[in-house]
This record gives sequence, C-alpha cells and structure tokens, in this order.
Amino acid sequence: MDYSDNRGIDLHIHSNASDGTLYPNEILALAKKLGLSAIAITDHDTIDGSKEAIETGIPSDFKFLTGVEISADPPPSFPCSGSFHVLGYSFRIDDHILHETLHTLQLARKNRNPKIIELLNNLGFDITIEEVINFAGEGQIGRPHIASLMVEKGFVESIKKAFDKYLGRGKPAYVDKYRLGCSKAIEVINGAGGIPVLAHPSLFTIREEKKFEDLIAELKVMGLKGIEAYYSEHSKDKTSYYIEIAEKYGLLITGGTDFHGSLKPDINMGSGRGNLHVPYNLYENLINSI
Ligand code: AMP
Ligand code: ZN
Ligand code: FE
Ligand code: FE
Repeated sequence: MDYSDNRGIDLHIHSNASDGTLYPNEILALAKKLGLSAIAITDHDTIDGSKEAIETGIPSDFKFLTGVEISADPPPSFPCSGSFHVLGYSFRIDDHILHETLHTLQLARKNRNPKIIELLNNLGFDITIEEVINFAGEGQIGRPHIASLMVEKGFVESIKKAFDKYLGRGKPAYVDKYRLGCSKAIEVINGAGGIPVLAHPSLFTIREEKKFEDLIAELKVMGLKGIEAYYSEHSKDKTSYYIEIAEKYGLLITGGTDFHGSLKPDINMGSGRGNLHVPYNLYENLINSI
C-alpha cells in the first residue's frame, strides 16, 4: 500500500471504552470510509478501546497505533488551569505497570462519579448513579456522560451548558479527581515502550508569568517526546507556533481531532470542525523514532 498520498491521519479518537460514543469496530469502519491513513484510539485512562480494535482486526487500508490519554498534574513549578493531558502511543498493550497505573486512575474515577451525582442531587436534580451507568454502557464514565444525561432529562439545553453551569472546574457540581503527576505519566508510557506526547496545549493556561517554552523544556527532561500541534481547536497560528517549539526542542509533532462521536457532535473524525488535515508524514516520523 502506498501511503505517500495526501490522506490524513487522526491520532486522537475516543471510543465508548471512555466517553466516545462509537464502538472500536465502528471507529475502524468510519476511518476506512473516510480514507484516513493512520489512526489511534486514545481513551481517557484506559486502553480497552485500543485492545478491542486490535482484537477486532485492523483493516489493511490504514495503520493503527495503540493509544491512551492520561489526565495528569502539570509540573509543580508550572501550575496550570484547564486540561493538562498526556497522550501515549505505540506502547506494549500488555505492559503490567501501565495496566496497574491505569487501574488506579479508573478506581479514582469510580469514586468520583457518585460524588458528582450527590452534588447534583443537592442542587435539586433528580439523577442517580445507576442511571448514569446505564446511560454510559460498559465503558468508564466521564463527565460528558453525566452532562449528556442531564440534557436528555431536560435539566440543561446542551452538554456545554451542563459544563459551564455545573460540571466544569469551579462549578457547583465539580469534583476534582486524582491525577498522576506528569513525570509519572511520561515515565509509565516510556516504560511501556511508548511515546508520550503533550495533548492539546491550547486547552490549558499556565498560571503565573511563566513561558510555555520553559514548560516544554522541563517536560522534555522528564522524557516527553512530542507535542500535539494539530488539533480541532487550534488556530493555524497556534499550530505553527507549536510546530516551531517542537522543532526547537527536538520533539515529534502529532495531531488529531479529539473525536467523541455524538458526545461532541461538532467534531468529525479526521477533519475536526471541517478544516483539519493532519499529514501522514507525522505518523511516519513517530514510527521511525521508535
Ligand atoms: P472527565 O474525564 O470526566 O474529567 O471529563 C473530561 C471530558 O470532559 C473531556 O472529554 C473534555 O473534552 C470534556 N469537557 C471538559 N470541559 C468541558 C466543557 N467545558 N464543555 C464540554 N466538554 C468538556
Ligand atoms: Zn473525553
Ligand atoms: Fe484531552
Ligand atoms: Fe481527548
């Protein structure tokens, strides 16, 4: 198969093993239909989606990378607000330290969800954890499931409103969750033979007067290997800036849409809000670095 054509890749996709709505086999079918040349399933704190895709069988039409997205704490010297996530690619799927680490994160989520529901109940919403579990199916529950159920029950008009009014950080039903330190997240991914990448850098802001570049330098010392420069919510200028920083620090450049199926209906696999094109050579660079 010749991949030197113009087909795009998508290295940031959520399945219903976390808060995406498609089964892994449906993701494979859609990637094939869209003519993508490489994809990765990067669920929050679980590799079940990647595993299931491999068990299903990857079509020969495109390349597939194992993936995960870990919610992490930024380095203590770079306090951040927003979503600080570390992506991992192409790790050994049976690595037991990775498994144990993810298991701890999954337990933390299980403890957190009933607390969110309790806060919503205190705010007067009639919603139970059993309803959320039924609604989410077998995958692990995240706030988008709760938000979506709140829409279905007529409590809020949209998922975005549910976050803005209740579930987002600092809002009345927000519950913090246990996170790995980023150095640990990076170490675990490297330890499993994978490639740790800083996810969607535009989705967090560094508090205090500190430079993004210095954060990258510190993460690189910890073992970071790449930056997700191409992303649905990144402007062209932002993408160029992250590419420049990645090149300056000798890091890989990756990209993906953060496709979640109908839980983020505006984001399409492979093209984000319609105009995202992530070039295939990024996949090649990533594979060649292993
Ligand atoms: P959780 O894993 O439960 O912390 O939820 C994280 C998920 O919630 C990610 O997929 C985010 O994209 C989504 N999310 C976080 N903040 C918002 C927001 N303000 N509006 C919509 N989705 C959000
Ligand atoms: Zn998500
Ligand atoms: Fe993320
Ligand atoms: Fe994501």
